Amino acid sequence: MIDFIPPVAPLSRTRIEEMAKSILAKHYPRVLSRPTAIDVVDFCDRVLFEHYGIACFVDHLAWIDGTEGLARPDRVVLIDEATYRAAVEGDGRSRFTMIHEAFHSIHHSPQILRAINDQRGSLRRYRKNQVPAYMDPEWQANTFASAFLMPEQPVRAYLAGRSAASPLSLLISQKFRVSEKAARIRLGKLGIRNQ
Ligand SMILES: [Zn+2]
Repeated sequence: MIDFIPPVAPLSRTRIEEMAKSILAKHYPRVLSRPTAIDVVDFCDRVLFEHYGIACFVDHLAWIDGTEGLARPDRVVLIDEATYRAAVEGDGRSRFTMIHEAFHSIHHSPQILRAINDQRGSLRRYRKNQVPAYMDPEWQANTFASAFLMPEQPVRAYLAGRSAASPLSLLISQKFRVSEKAARIRLGKLGIRNQ
């Protein structure tokens, strides 16, 4: 749980949805028309490096304080070894963590680096509850990961005409390989009843 955060440039939910969609369209165009689980390991290991100059390394982080991943300002993403392994095996929570950190690295690290340089080495931090959600890097990264892993059109296409024998969040979590909690939140944001 982070108590102090650096506010970042505002981003609306709509803008974040557009960013996720345009990154998907560029690197994995087929996932926008066919409901499928995105290859997050390929995204972090290959796409981040080839297209964004960001290196993703696996390290032992969790022993410090349970950290699963972190984005360093110097264009490096570190993923805890167990989290990485779980993501390779398709664990939803770990897959979400990798995309969350990837977004920090693509979008927030340059801002944080600029802030450090502008303020000669100090980065102003605020209590989390003093920062509105749209300027909260954690909210932005979670919103991005959700939209990236469960793009709106394929989610709607997948659910269209499906009988609700089991909760829709369960179907979504299995198809898109996300946690059921993340699927429930996504359905709520899309205004889809979880029945
Ligand atoms: Zn974060």
